[in-house]
Order: sequence, then C-alpha cells, then structure tokens
Amino acid sequence: MRFSKNARDRRRVTSPVQSATMPELPEVEGARRRLAPLLAGRCIERLEVHDAKLWHPGEGLAAETVARQNVREIERRAKILTFRLDGGLSLVLHLKIAGQLAYCFASGERFACGHPHPLPDAELPSSATRFSLHLAGGDVLFVNDQRRFAWLRLLPDEQADAFVAEHRFGPEPLDESFTPDVLAARLRARKGRPIKAALLDQTCIAGLGNIYTDESLHAARLHPMIRAGDITPEQAEVLHRAIRDVLERAVPVGGAYVVNGRSSVPEDQLERDFLRAHGRAGQQCPDCDPAGPQIVRAFLAGRGTYFCPTCQPAPPGFVLPATHDQREPAPEAQVARKDTHT
Ligand SMILES: [Zn+2]
Repeated sequence: MRFSKNARDRRRVTSPVQSATMPELPEVEGARRRLAPLLAGRCIERLEVHDAKLWHPGEGLAAETVARQNVREIERRAKILTFRLDGGLSLVLHLKIAGQLAYCFASGERFACGHPHPLPDAELPSSATRFSLHLAGGDVLFVNDQRRFAWLRLLPDEQADAFVAEHRFGPEPLDESFTPDVLAARLRARKGRPIKAALLDQTCIAGLGNIYTDESLHAARLHPMIRAGDITPEQAEVLHRAIRDVLERAVPVGGAYVVNGRSSVPEDQLERDFLRAHGRAGQQCPDCDPAGPQIVRAFLAGRGTYFCPTCQPAPPGFVLPATHDQREPAPEAQVARKDTHT
C-alpha cells in the first residue's frame, strides 16, 4: 500500500524545503510520546528494510525475526529510541541529522515526527524511506532519511542496553536527578571548554543539540564561549532552569519547526515557532531594547551558533570572528553547513 495525503494537506505546503533542524531531545521525545500509545501492544506484521546500509541486526537476527512480535513499549535515552518487543528483542533507532518517523494509519491519515522531510504530501514509501514497520491492521511506521545517516539495530534486550550504555550519556535533563548541583559539577569537570561545547557533549548532558544549547544559553544570558569552569553556582542554577524551561516548552509540541525561516511555518504548526535566538540572525533580540544589536550567528565551539551580543556578554578576550553572519544565511548555505553531530 502507498500512502499519499489529501488535497487539504497538499495546499498547506507552499515550497520545497531546503533546510531544517535536526532531531534533538524534544523532537525524539515528542515522537516517543506520540508513537508509544499507537504501538504498545500492537503486532508487527513485517519489517521491510529498504536500505541495507543502515540496518544492523545482531548475530543470528534478521528483519524476519520481528514478524508476528508485539511491541511492548518505546523508551528513549538521549536521542536514541528503543522499541521493546515481546520475546526479548529491541529495535534501536537513531534519527541522526535528518531522520523522520511517519506514522500512516490504514485510513490514509498520517503524521510525521522529527525532520520535516519528506513533506506531508509525499507519497510513502519514497526514495527517502529506509525502513517500513508494517503493523497488523494496516498501519505503517516509515523511517525516512534523505541523508542516510540514521540507523536501526535489532538486538537482544541486554545487548541493546549495553549498546546504549556504551555511549556513556550524561543525565537526562528532564529527570528529577538532574539538579543545578549536578549541572554545576558536570560543567566543572569540563572546566576548560566553552560552555556551549560542554552542553553539546552528550556525556555531560544527554540530548541537547545545537538548537537547544543556543536557546538555553540565550535564556540564561550566558555567552556560548564562557569557559564551563567559570560558571558560578548562581549561573548554573539559572542555566539549569533555562534548560528545563526550553525543553518543557519544546517537548509537548514535538520540537521547533525551523524550515527556511519563520515564514514557512504552516498555520497548524505555529506553536512550534518558539525559538528566540537560534535561527534568528539579523533579528532583534526579544529580550533586549528594540534599538539594540541583533542576534548574531557565528561559528563558535565548532557549530553555527546564535546569540545576542548584548544580553549574553562576552568573556574577556573574546573576539567575534570576522566572518560572522549579520543575517540568516541562505537555505542552501545552511544545508552545506550541516554536519553529523549528534
Ligand atoms: Zn539580547
């Protein structure tokens, strides 16, 4: 069965997408929350592997192994989703920089989580479809990825747990165990690094990527190049609150919708248009005097970084790179700058 959207959804899409955000914790956790009630207890009819390069079954396992197994639950650690199956097996999925989960009901209705591509009117499976999980009853979960960095593993539960543990992820920022003191201690352990680099380090905190580090630092009024070791306990407390606030806003709506700038946000996705710094180069800082400087984009800590030079004061000796962008780069340039960081 091929799935395509109706005319109403086609009208909503006005232009081809050139650039978009990569899935981070809010996008992946948003996907988990939407998919878990649909998949829990459902029987898998078959798993179709469209792209063998991205498929990593454990020894003696194959796509056929999951046929007629029930999905128990979906777990998330950092940006990894684990689909627990009856029979002691797990499907472990990473969407990487451009992965999308599209759930198609047998009725033809569908929704997508993660990367906006393929667009809502695309027929599925498409050339970007890497896996199709066919459920009894006719629903299908498509794993799409134009960039071919996503991967899917099939492992016994204990091997899946060991595989995830190997990543040595830091604490989950939405867990109760993640406190201001925990954040401060983990930053102290990375004291020589810019705070942005420390926050991006998945062994420091799990799940934060480029978007939400920029947003958290902006909300906390901390410059991305402040040394992690120079953060005071008071600043760590403010940053902890900012990380929580940013994520708690982002997760329920499935993360931010950043595709070709703000003008392309569909009317029914406006609640996802909440970013205040990331992707806003050349725009006024929402927290500053309207006559003040604008949000700047510069290549800092190895990433395209957005910040306000006014309310995020620079550390001593910081010099803004001469090549920083005054305005949002063209979509094509954004695509060229994307990398495979997780
Ligand atoms: Zn500002």
